[in-house]
Amino acid sequence: MIQFTTPLSIRLGVIGAGTMGSGIALTALLADMYVTLYDIDLQTLERAWNSIDRYLARKSRSSNLTHLKLTSEWEDLGKANFIIEAVPEDLAIKQDLFSRLDALCPPPAILATNTSTLAVTAIAAATQYPERVVGMHFFNPAPVLPLVEVVRAAQTDDAAVQAAVAAAKFLGKTPVEVRDTPGFIVNRVARPFYGEALRLAGEGAASYEVIDRVVRLGGGFKMGPFQLMDLIGIDVNLAATQSMYEQTYGEPRYRPHYLQVQMTQQKALGRKTGRGFYNYDSEPPFDDSLRLPAGLGVAKGPGEQAVYLAAGDWAPGMAQACRQAGYLLAAAPGAGYLALSPTSDSVGLVAVGYSEGLKERLASLERQLPSEALILCQCADVTLTELAAEMNTPERLVGFDGLFFAGGQVATLVASPVLTDRARRAAETFIASLGRLPIWVNDSPGLILPRMVCMLANEAAFAAGEGIAEPEEIDRAMQLGVNYPKGPLAWARQLGLARVVAVLDHLHAELGEERYRVAPLLRRWARLEKLTRY
Ligand code: NAD
Repeated sequence: MIQFTTPLSIRLGVIGAGTMGSGIALTALLADMYVTLYDIDLQTLERAWNSIDRYLARKSRSSNLTHLKLTSEWEDLGKANFIIEAVPEDLAIKQDLFSRLDALCPPPAILATNTSTLAVTAIAAATQYPERVVGMHFFNPAPVLPLVEVVRAAQTDDAAVQAAVAAAKFLGKTPVEVRDTPGFIVNRVARPFYGEALRLAGEGAASYEVIDRVVRLGGGFKMGPFQLMDLIGIDVNLAATQSMYEQTYGEPRYRPHYLQVQMTQQKALGRKTGRGFYNYDSEPPFDDSLRLPAGLGVAKGPGEQAVYLAAGDWAPGMAQACRQAGYLLAAAPGAGYLALSPTSDSVGLVAVGYSEGLKERLASLERQLPSEALILCQCADVTLTELAAEMNTPERLVGFDGLFFAGGQVATLVASPVLTDRARRAAETFIASLGRLPIWVNDSPGLILPRMVCMLANEAAFAAGEGIAEPEEIDRAMQLGVNYPKGPLAWARQLGLARVVAVLDHLHAELGEERYRVAPLLRRWARLEKLTRY
């Protein structure tokens, strides 16, 4: 059994000097390890040398270059006691290499693969000693991103996992242990980020640009899904989805979408081809300024408006935002609403869950409010159309994405086809006066953020339920691997697990697709939440 006690106890061999192999070698040099970097292509080796040399010089670490041996001679890897393979994502090539490593680097050397989509179990099966084979999934750029998924194949023994975990730590990375299943943690749990965005665009809920803006400004993600797909390469992203779909024998949550297929067919692959979901000939429209539409927020001061706020907690932060903006809130008799000095500019707010009698509350609010008062209603687990169909005065109803109101800088608004211009303007003015940017989208189940975030949490709960990794590890992997603002499971708890389940049940009922079925573990957690109120 091999034990790595210091960085110098690792004699690292890296196979493949491309994007990932050269990045892993550089990371190891920065950690003071000795590295042999092998590739069959001399030009690639030269490119790798140049980029590593430049990087080390910039960091004043040029002396570490003496720890690096670049080679195209297979035998030069023979002294390594730890191998990380980073050749192209092709099972036959990887299996061939691993079978040949048996003779060159016999046990106790540890063999790791950096595969992102192939089964580590299948790669391990090519060697006589599969128990020493482990996955080490680095993220691009390897010297920068802190996460390494340490993948335990079906045959991997504890010693190999421990060795890989120790090596990852010596490399300055945060290892997260995961069982060998399609997509491991990050590539799996991130699927809905792309998949739901593509479906929202395909269903005509909003444009790529609007979806990206809502995700960035409302959800706090660094990049919107279309922007990110353009960066990754739409073809690369499609291949990852396709691989997950095939490896799971057609799990509907991973079904590719025709939009990404069409983009790939026309070779609009994103930044690398100059055009993808965005056109990169000119500056792409990633405008995150919070400029309000002309004239908004100047019509009337908030002090002159009254807000009627229904009891209920489907818009956390809304009451506080109203108070902070100087609105007057008070309880209305009987219905538990808050109301004060009704004027022609008054706004009624309903933010209770659908299951909690939303339609009845809405009807009661309709009766109590002055006929010209705007009514805003949360639309995360109910479509605006359903509510409008039940109302006597649907022309003053505007839907909003209540669950994400607290932390976001935007409010996603939905109009029914009969909304009056006056009500539209009143909604925009009201939202703007709370310091949020109003963004209109079309009516669609779950709107943008509730649909995407709840589906991310659902995928994470499926993974946790299947024992792929611990819930905290899944959250940590998503924050470190793809920079999510919060771990999806922690986010779901913050939103309220029962509400997350309600959004998913609503998506399931409206869209009728198995894709939206709730993870059994998530439903169990939500029921426990009701019992214990944690
Ligand atoms: P790449 O094409 O940039 O590099 C692959 C290198 O392997 C090339 O230099 C090639 O000459 C070399 N090679 C091919 N056959 C070889 C052989 N038989 N022996 C030695 N070298 C050989 O690929 P990459 O993007 O670095 O990806 C490598 C692996 O890392 C893949 O399994 C990929 O799925 C995984 N990965 C990639 C990323 C990423 O963002 N690029 C992220 C995580 C994991």
